[in-house]
Amino acid sequence: MSHAVGHVFDPTILREYDIRGIVGETLSAADAHALGRAYATMLRAGGGRRVCLGFDGRLSSPELAKALADGLERSGLEVLRIGRGPTPMMYFAVYHLAADGGLQVTGSHNPPSHNGFKMMLGRKPLYGAQIQELGQLAAEGAFSDEKGSLSDTPLLDAYVDRLVRDFRPGRPLHVVWDAGNGATGEALQAVTARLPGRHELLFADIDGRFPNHHPDPTIPENLADLITAVRRAGADLGIAFDGDGDRIGLVDGQGRIMFGDQLMQILAADVLARHPGSPILADVKASQALFDEIERLGGQAVMGKTGHSLMKTAMAEMGAPLAGEMSGHIFYADGFYGYDDALYVAIRLLGILGQDDLSLAERRDRMAPMINTPELRFDCPDEQKFAVIDRVKAGLAAEGARVNAIDGVRVGTDDGWWLLRASNTQAVLVARAEARDKAGLERLKQQLATHLRAAGVEPPAF
Ligand SMILES: [Zn+2]
Repeated sequence: MSHAVGHVFDPTILREYDIRGIVGETLSAADAHALGRAYATMLRAGGGRRVCLGFDGRLSSPELAKALADGLERSGLEVLRIGRGPTPMMYFAVYHLAADGGLQVTGSHNPPSHNGFKMMLGRKPLYGAQIQELGQLAAEGAFSDEKGSLSDTPLLDAYVDRLVRDFRPGRPLHVVWDAGNGATGEALQAVTARLPGRHELLFADIDGRFPNHHPDPTIPENLADLITAVRRAGADLGIAFDGDGDRIGLVDGQGRIMFGDQLMQILAADVLARHPGSPILADVKASQALFDEIERLGGQAVMGKTGHSLMKTAMAEMGAPLAGEMSGHIFYADGFYGYDDALYVAIRLLGILGQDDLSLAERRDRMAPMINTPELRFDCPDEQKFAVIDRVKAGLAAEGARVNAIDGVRVGTDDGWWLLRASNTQAVLVARAEARDKAGLERLKQQLATHLRAAGVEPPAF
């Protein structure tokens, strides 16, 4: 053990599911180096030695990856550098290379100036208290002081082989893809070159400046190019990815956006046909239509907390073959490893759609017609957001409302439901409401606004 001077991270970068900051302001190469030493010390304490390291397409990623690799090596790890690619390529590497953990340098869907790290310890996501522990280890400077090694193990080819292996051939489809200049670009080109059908690729060159649109498919304006291209081409569907490829965006042949909870209805039907009665997990933001459909198909619908690390952990505990979030994080354990790989989800979806004559738009039209808001996000300082939720919760308790408090509050009424929760990753509150008709949705939105005002927050226009 070396007791060098400790390294103190900016406290804002140690987040719930990852480490993330603004490069040159709250995050530097020195942070990456210290993180490498702290992570290596934690892994060595648990007996681990081999670790996979990947990075996304951001301009700052190579420099941060180099500093991180040096820190990992300096504290005794065998570092396998798998190269540039999406975050799920790193998850795959941990299994494929039988490593003891993995790290990805990525700012996910955030602006070009941001960057950060997603990590696995063993085959589990490293998050929550463990991230705080890394911060303490670094502050104490009590780093493991052994010599490790660095080697290059490019993984893109093996990753693409694994993805394509689970494609089920059927009716050839015309697909427009939008990688948003994110880290999936190269893998996407390799995958689509090996699939039957017609594939048009938008923004598949990796460019960390994101010159075309922001790589976040949950924001409808980021899907505008894809929608235009699908309509112009008369394509069967459009598929988009977030910046690091762990979230999927979807557009049907009419150019209508389908969120993760709608896509899940299709994927759940396929999985439940092969695993009857299985639990299927969806997050608190998901439409009631999804939970109802899972039950109708004979599955057990389970509502879980939003957050990719929480979803992965919960699905492993309950042995669920499939889990998904409205945000587009979708997790396959059926035939796969139980983590969120958007390219893999796309391949499974194309297989399902190719197996019969129903188009994606027709499938969408058969879904229960719920009227809902998209995910509504509005700013609320980090140090206040959980207190706001507590005040709303207290107000609801005083009214005797029907509340599911698994993650924020999901309030059931005769009209439908509304949700208010604090984001674990951003200084925002997240809301959503869903009813069977427009008047009901208005009543729900008014209730939500009333509760926000009572908690001292001026509700945004929604
Ligand atoms: Zn992501």
